[in-house]
Amino acid sequence: MHLAVPNKYREASEKDLRQAILDAKDRLTDKMVILAHHYQRREVAEFGDFIGDSYDLSRTASERKSAKYIVFCGVHFMAESADILSADNQQVFLPNPLAGCPMADMAEIDDVMAAWRYLKDAGLTDKMLPLSYMNSAAQLKAFCGREGGLICTSSNAKAAYEWVYERAEKLFFFPDENLGYNVGHWMGIPDEQIVIWDFRSELGGIDPERLQNARLILWKGHCHVHTNFKKHHIDAVRAENPEVKIVVHPECTWDVVANADAVGSTKFIVDFIDRQPAGSVIAVGTEINLINRMAHRYPDKKIFGLSGQTCPVCANMYRTTLADLAYTVDNLETCDRIVVDPAIKADARIALNRMLEVH
Ligand code: SF4
Repeated sequence: MHLAVPNKYREASEKDLRQAILDAKDRLTDKMVILAHHYQRREVAEFGDFIGDSYDLSRTASERKSAKYIVFCGVHFMAESADILSADNQQVFLPNPLAGCPMADMAEIDDVMAAWRYLKDAGLTDKMLPLSYMNSAAQLKAFCGREGGLICTSSNAKAAYEWVYERAEKLFFFPDENLGYNVGHWMGIPDEQIVIWDFRSELGGIDPERLQNARLILWKGHCHVHTNFKKHHIDAVRAENPEVKIVVHPECTWDVVANADAVGSTKFIVDFIDRQPAGSVIAVGTEINLINRMAHRYPDKKIFGLSGQTCPVCANMYRTTLADLAYTVDNLETCDRIVVDPAIKADARIALNRMLEVH
């Protein structure tokens, strides 16, 4: 695994790096597709043949059969998902192999399996299905596929909940307790029927009787970028800009979500900003690179981050530089690929394909 790009790329000028990427695109035409997540740096996102959220990009990866090389400017779980959904002759690359997702890392498969064993012994797994957010490792996705469950993104989480509750009484959601809680709340599940499984505590830290009555079990995990936003940020922004529209991502905590004007996936946020008329004042509760790109794209609207001076940056998304991308596209034959073990891939693909069918 390359942990640092060679000096030739690190020391190259931005102009030369950009030219190297353009040359590779010309050389490879439709044999290569560059997928860029919305949270990528602007100069990297600019080279994306597709820019989107994890849902759009995983769908695109599954459809672009002509591309031998899929270069995924995002984080590790996204490239893994692209490898799971792509054909055998396709190769997936993550330009910066250190770009992970701390939230995905909060649900390690050994902890998940220990929880599931306990729930099985308690006689609960027969009436329960697992559902994992896209932001999870391939092994967790495979577990969901094996156990009859599926994957969702923030775009289709509510539809995925409905899919589960048509088939089971209880749902175990991984790894984001905030997205899981918010969707449960929108589904009308009362708080008494929602519990949080704390994998660091014995037996999840849940009273056994409460567990028996719970309809929604949430894995204790969160995104540190989106939990940055607080209710007092909303109060301050509204006090200063009475006309403001506040749009936030559903990985934010419930008190933020409940007090925003609109809530939705990254794609929803992009479309929301697009729909607002010129002169609008819009405060956004999501990753700073997306906010900055939107502010740049719409100079006729006042667009800014909800948390003021607290910069909501995803350091992992930020890891991918132009030098990483140039090095990768120049060295596709020798660069390390993201390769998911075939046994894990088969089960994970079942769960991901169910996701693609649920809207
Ligand atoms: S923004 Fe949050 S959920 Fe998304 S990759 Fe970064 S840490 Fe993970």
